[in-house]
Amino acid sequence: MNGTASLGDIDSYLRSIWLECCGHLSRFTTGGWGSAELAKPRRVDSVLKDGDELIHIYDFGTQSITRVRAMGSRQAEPLSRRPIVLMARNIIPQAECVECDQPASHLCQECQQEWDSPGLLCRRHAQNHPHDEYGEPIELVNSPRLGLCGYTGPAEPPY
Ligand SMILES: [Zn+2]
Ligand SMILES: [Zn+2]
Ligand SMILES: [Zn+2]
Repeated sequence: MNGTASLGDIDSYLRSIWLECCGHLSRFTTGGWGSAELAKPRRVDSVLKDGDELIHIYDFGTQSITRVRAMGSRQAEPLSRRPIVLMARNIIPQAECVECDQPASHLCQECQQEWDSPGLLCRRHAQNHPHDEYGEPIELVNSPRLGLCGYTGPAEPPY
């Protein structure tokens, strides 16, 4: 990301690609117990040197915690006019249906919350699944927040 961009730019990016469900509060800290909050308007080049880490917390109730690390820096033309360029991303972890051994495509939150089961279902078993207390099974997306609070994705980069 561009060094002149702000922590707020990281916050919006993380919300779009991974976190946003219902507009919860979020904050950055330097990590550790009782560590100070870093204001979102601050420039990243003023708070992060190479190797430094920050902790981003989204939703103080059902928390999603993201560790942000400055891997390295360079002086050069920006790669984009946008504050952030996505260089690489994880592949969504493979999971198996709890009813058969086919790849899972859906998640039942009731299984997860009430029945102590991973709640992962293939397309076929998601269709006639008996639980509806938390709504229909939701489609798996590439985000660690899936199944927390009201999060259903889309887990796509914002730009
Ligand atoms: Zn929420
Ligand atoms: Zn199945
Ligand atoms: Zn279920």
